[in-house]
Amino acid sequence: MKIRSAKVIVTCPGRNLVTLKIETDEGVYGIGDATLNGREKSVVSYLEDHVIPTLIGKDPQRIEDIWQYLYRGAYWRRGPVGMTAIAAVDVALWDIKAKLAGMPLYQLLGGKSREKVMVYGHATGLDIDSCLEEVRKHVELGYKAVRVQCGIPGIPTTYGVSKEAGKPYEPADSALPSENVWSTEKYLNHVPELFAAVRKEFGEDLHILHDVHHRLTPIQAARLGKEVEKFHLFWLEDCTPVENQSSYELIRKHTTTPLAIGEIFNSLSDCQELIQNQLIDYIRATITHAGGITNVRRIADFASIFHVKTGFHGATDLSPICMGAALHFDTWVPNFGIQEHMPHTKETDLVFPHAYEFKDGFFTPGDVPGHGVDIDEELAAKYPYKPAYLPVNRLEDGTLWNW
Ligand SMILES: [Mg+2]
Repeated sequence: MKIRSAKVIVTCPGRNLVTLKIETDEGVYGIGDATLNGREKSVVSYLEDHVIPTLIGKDPQRIEDIWQYLYRGAYWRRGPVGMTAIAAVDVALWDIKAKLAGMPLYQLLGGKSREKVMVYGHATGLDIDSCLEEVRKHVELGYKAVRVQCGIPGIPTTYGVSKEAGKPYEPADSALPSENVWSTEKYLNHVPELFAAVRKEFGEDLHILHDVHHRLTPIQAARLGKEVEKFHLFWLEDCTPVENQSSYELIRKHTTTPLAIGEIFNSLSDCQELIQNQLIDYIRATITHAGGITNVRRIADFASIFHVKTGFHGATDLSPICMGAALHFDTWVPNFGIQEHMPHTKETDLVFPHAYEFKDGFFTPGDVPGHGVDIDEELAAKYPYKPAYLPVNRLEDGTLWNW
């Protein structure tokens, strides 16, 4: 069996999504997600100009060898563009292999470790009361875990909070990034009240998650983690940037609030020190940005030795293909923690028909051969690429800060 052709499909049924489709000479095909939010075209070029020409004629069943060929063979290692491109190839090849086997992908990984996959949804509000309303909607849908974000008095815009209820908060609907304002002091003084209100309203059983989006220094993160311990968060996410992994030692010394990070990681070395020193509790590296199933499996296995669980990124900057592949992985991985879930637009769900299903706060990946997600190319063509970027963030005095 040989790879006969491969192509990249870009579509924007709400957000820009990039898909790699690999076809074999025996008619079986596989698809992988190649979406890198705000930098989509760099991966399109990487695939079209540098990867696809090397794939033609290769045996699609040699997933590991092709992974090594694209990783070691390129000389340039790691990095979001290259690793997203490798992930797209890897997921498409796992899709093909599972279709050839006539099995759902989780069977090839080792079979089910659980019956269903717990996900968390996003509740965001302009203030605490409107956030509580959003939490209630999630609880009514059956969610057992909810990420809560709310506006901060005195700051006109806040990460994770849309200007209008029910509208997406990213990316900016313009050809250039919009600009947000941030005050760490105002945020730190206000956000504990949000967790207090959620606990008061919904009791102790609901899992509460919160994303700080890299906005704090380590000592500020330590203060926040310590102050909110009594609210028993499921996790505090991305509390500080982590180019220097040992910065988490300082946070860890001060708080027992569980810590999660990794949605922008691309490799095991990005999180090795955090994991082996047990500085985090959940690793958020995603299949699409961390080199595919082949590479994320290495990260998850390594993490399992150090009691670190998975908590994959699963926002709508990833296509339903990533969600499908992640749900198969989550169904298998022994050290599963939780899976992020944001609903895609109706249009997106129609472009990407899928076998996965939601019920009462849990997903199942479905039992069709492969990862269970397909693409309707005719429909995809009706939604052309539109430039869109994440906002950038500035402190109140104009200093550029972390988004
Ligand atoms: Mg996040």
